[in-house]
Amino acid sequence: MKNDDCIFCKIANGEIPSRTIYEDQLFRVILDLNPATKGHALILPKDHSASLYELPEETAAAVLVLAKKLAVILREKLGCDGLNLVQNNGEAAGQTVSHFHLHMIPRYTDDGQKISWIPGKPAQEELDEVRKKLTE
Ligand code: 5GP
Ligand code: ZN
Repeated sequence: MKNDDCIFCKIANGEIPSRTIYEDQLFRVILDLNPATKGHALILPKDHSASLYELPEETAAAVLVLAKKLAVILREKLGCDGLNLVQNNGEAAGQTVSHFHLHMIPRYTDDGQKISWIPGKPAQEELDEVRKKLTE
């Protein structure tokens, strides 16, 4: 299903032109307008899901299969040295477009980009408490 107010619905379904690098029945893959690196691409499902939480399981499974295929193509054609997959859900996590998308960010040795976090140093008890919360 499409959402009339969603820009990625319009792009994914070809109503707004984009630099498409791959398309099938379920997905369109486009170049990001503000790429982190050369070849930064976005996998967009054609059906609207706001985020991973709403994404149907079959689409979730298919998206990683597609990412794997594209990973090989990006390496072969662009000669990247690595690849980050990034997927933001919710404003707190940096999501700016509320239509599920998977970033594929080719990495090049010394490309100067940073996709990182500050490592925490929690007490062992805190880790135990989190594990308990998540498993009980
Ligand atoms: P988010 O922060 O939601 O994970 O990522 C949104 C991404 O979409 C950003 O990297 C941004 O550059 C990209 N983007 C936003 N609008 C457009 C657009 O109209 N066309 C394309 N190709 N990329 C877009
Ligand atoms: Zn949408």
